[in-house]
Amino acid sequence: MNAEIVAVGTEILLGQILNSNAKYISEKLAELGIDVFYHTSVGDNRHRLTEAVRIAHDRSDLVILTGGLGPTGDDLTKETLAEFLQKPLEVRSEEVEILKAALAKRNIAFRDGHYKQVAFIPESSVLKNDYGTSPGMAVQLDKKVYIVLPGPPREMEPMFLNYTVPWLTAHLLGSGHQKIFSKVLKLVEMTESAVEESIKDLIDTQTTPTIATLLGPGVVIVRLTARACDETEFQEIIKPVRDEIEKRIGRYIAAEDKETVWDNAATLLTKRSLTVSTAESCTAGLLSASFTKLPGSSEYFTGAIIAYSNEIKEKLLGVPAAILEKHGAVSEETARAMAAGVRKVTGSSVGIGVTGIAGPDGGTKEKPVGMVCIALDAQDQQTAKTFYFNGKRETIREMSVNRAQILLYNYLKEG
Ligand code: ATP
Repeated sequence: MNAEIVAVGTEILLGQILNSNAKYISEKLAELGIDVFYHTSVGDNRHRLTEAVRIAHDRSDLVILTGGLGPTGDDLTKETLAEFLQKPLEVRSEEVEILKAALAKRNIAFRDGHYKQVAFIPESSVLKNDYGTSPGMAVQLDKKVYIVLPGPPREMEPMFLNYTVPWLTAHLLGSGHQKIFSKVLKLVEMTESAVEESIKDLIDTQTTPTIATLLGPGVVIVRLTARACDETEFQEIIKPVRDEIEKRIGRYIAAEDKETVWDNAATLLTKRSLTVSTAESCTAGLLSASFTKLPGSSEYFTGAIIAYSNEIKEKLLGVPAAILEKHGAVSEETARAMAAGVRKVTGSSVGIGVTGIAGPDGGTKEKPVGMVCIALDAQDQQTAKTFYFNGKRETIREMSVNRAQILLYNYLKEG
């Protein structure tokens, strides 16, 4: 079975909104093992929409339309589809009552225009809209399936998950149907090409699972993908390949699937009863914000000092003036002194210091924009590293946060 997603809305064609519905639906269909062959975008125009539906009907088994389900004149999706299929749209009285109640809650009067929202092709099933007033519709006619969903993602996504997936499963997929599963391994301290090199023979001879490497934020991702009936079967399929990857580069795996490196660093901090504090120059609090993302972070995060100026670095963190003069504010020496300073002031087990040039100005030949020094200070270890990041100011700041998290994670893992 192959699917096509038809996103209806002139806003998409004008570049005013991104067609994120196509991304979302494609991702979910892939998980269900349904191949998506085409994405189409079309404006709110009856003639062109009919053409888009005709093309989709000719080349796809499953056609999913999103957008244009509202009560106004330019909402044409259901009418156009029904006309193309030569089917009537019939008002369902039980849906009228549900819509009336939903409108009353919002203090909106029911008008004649609202009837079209609750009119459906007779053979269709209604897909409930728990977050809006336009229900969706699913219908199978002559071995082709048409699904109609509303445009707003906050309405469409729950309708897809809670009503469309069960409908597709019951009507099309049947038991024993294989879905696509993926295992994501996130590696740190290795470049993508080094990862690829170390598992090249596995990639070259891959069959099931398929193996792909890609870049994530601050990590290299190895993704194993296979079709399986359920999670247990999937884990069995990937086991030999996964074991082999772990044998070769397992020590660089810092997180899996939805986990982040920080999630695992936080777990290690708790497990080892350690605390951390930050002294931040170019990241100006972003690192401490990332350290406090998870609930319960007060157990391991003691505090931060944002030391943008040299004066604050000296006064609050005790960075010696001689270090600032000799090595400059952006140097491993200053980062080390910042990390040691904040550890002392806050009494934490580990201090992290970050100082760098986020740009776009302020770079020199010796210290270019993107140069960032990150240091870690603990009783049993003092380290500092210099990175040269590319990109805009925000990217450089984000990369600094990622690298600082990884530095801390590696320290915690070793202990
Ligand atoms: P309503 O019942 O609220 O009128 P609708 O089904 O008629 O919904 P549209 O009027 O087509 O939907 O779109 C409403 C809003 O939904 C758009 O302004 C946009 O913000 C969002 N939207 C529509 N289509 C998409 C899409 N393909 N991807 C992401 N967002 C979308």
